Parts: sequence; C-alpha cells; structure tokens
Amino acid sequence: MIEYESRIRLITELRDHGITDRDVLSAIERVPREMFVPPAFRARAHDNAALPIGHGQTISQPAVVGYMTRELELDKRLKVLEIGTGSGYQTAVLSGLCRRVYTVERLRPLLREAEGRFERLRLANITTRWDDGSRGWPEVAPFERIIVTAAAVDVPPVLLDQLAPDGIMILPVGGEEEDQQLLKCRRRGDSVDYETLWPVRFVPLLPDAVDGSPP
Ligand code: SAH
Repeated sequence: MIEYESRIRLITELRDHGITDRDVLSAIERVPREMFVPPAFRARAHDNAALPIGHGQTISQPAVVGYMTRELELDKRLKVLEIGTGSGYQTAVLSGLCRRVYTVERLRPLLREAEGRFERLRLANITTRWDDGSRGWPEVAPFERIIVTAAAVDVPPVLLDQLAPDGIMILPVGGEEEDQQLLKCRRRGDSVDYETLWPVRFVPLLPDAVDGSPP
C-alpha cells in the first residue's frame, strides 16, 4: 500500500478508537512515523501497533499516543515535561500542540537518534536531556503538563512536586506489565486528584542514565 494511503488508514483507525479531537489527529497526521521506526519495520510504520526500536524498547502504539495526548488537554501556551523520549515519536506529536517540550531519556543512543529526527523535521521547540527522568527537570520546573511513557510502580513524588498548580500528569503505573493502569493526576492546591483511565502495557521506568547499549 502506498504511504499516503496507509497514513490515512491510520487516522481512520484512530477515529474508530474514539480519538476524535481534531487538533490531536492533525498533530499525529503531521508526524511521519516511518522516520521513527527502524528500517526493518518501515512497512509497518502506520500500523496501530507498538514496534521495537532497539535496546529492548518500543515506540508506543499510535492509539495510546492519541489517548495520552488528548488527556493532557494541551494548548500552545503550555510547557510540557516528557519522561522516556524513546524514538521521539510522542515528543514530536506533543511539539505541535504546546509551547515547548522538555524530554528526558536514560539511554543515550536512543536520545541521539531522536535528536537527529527532531533536527531533520525542524522541530525547534524540543529540549532534550540525557538523565534518569524520575528526577524530573528541577531547573525548569514547574511544568503545566507531565507525561511519562514508561511504567513506575507508584507515582514518582518528585514528578508530582514539579507539577504546576492545576497541572496534569499522565503516566502508566503498575509493577507487572499485565497489571498497569494509565493514571491522570491533577494538582489542586496542596492535594492531587487521581483518575484511572485504562489498562496499558509499557516498558518499565528504570533507574540511572546509561551511555551505550544496556547489557
Ligand atoms: N514515547 C516513546 C516510547 C518510549 S518507550 C516513543 O514514542 O517512542 C519508554 C522509554 O522510556 C524508553 O526509551 C526507556 O529507555 C525510557 N526510560 C525508562 N526509564 C527511564 C527513566 N528513568 N528516565 C528516562 N527515560 C527512561
């Protein structure tokens, strides 16, 4: 199938999954997912599926990217922190919908590849950092929105501390891969409201930044 048709088919599929927000769909439509997957998977770049990106990690399923992006309730004034850059696909989608994305990845080789893609696509409102994202990004905090694309056992308190008043954080929580839930946290003054969205499957949030292929 030619590329254009498979891109249209993906958008139709996302609509069928209930992702009808026009801004979210057009942000997804503008990001060429084929640039974010390894060459061997290029033919499947527009399938609504997670795919391997090397180093034991995966690019998220487009429907999950759509849900998480929608639940972030973005607008062009907002500053977003993303933990788990991976391929940079979710980052690129966010970049079209907010003022600036700060994105943190612990695996240096993946981050370098993602940075190359942002440059080629001229996505100038993305700032990257090689670090353990569970520390957040204290120098730029607070953030109006936070998205975590790897699963923690519990909500990391440091990230909650870096959430601005009325800010929203979306993250998968749960130990076992079969047992994760997507959570939406909203800061209300000194307290936080929690909403459980859907069951999901994400790679785990791991400690420490790693320079090279993990053993
Ligand atoms: N959103 C990504 C999917 C990333 S998979 C995409 O669209 O491609 C999750 C990513 O989180 C992996 O790249 C993994 O290395 C990274 N990760 C895991 N623990 C981390 C941590 N503590 N800090 C930063 N990144 C982390």
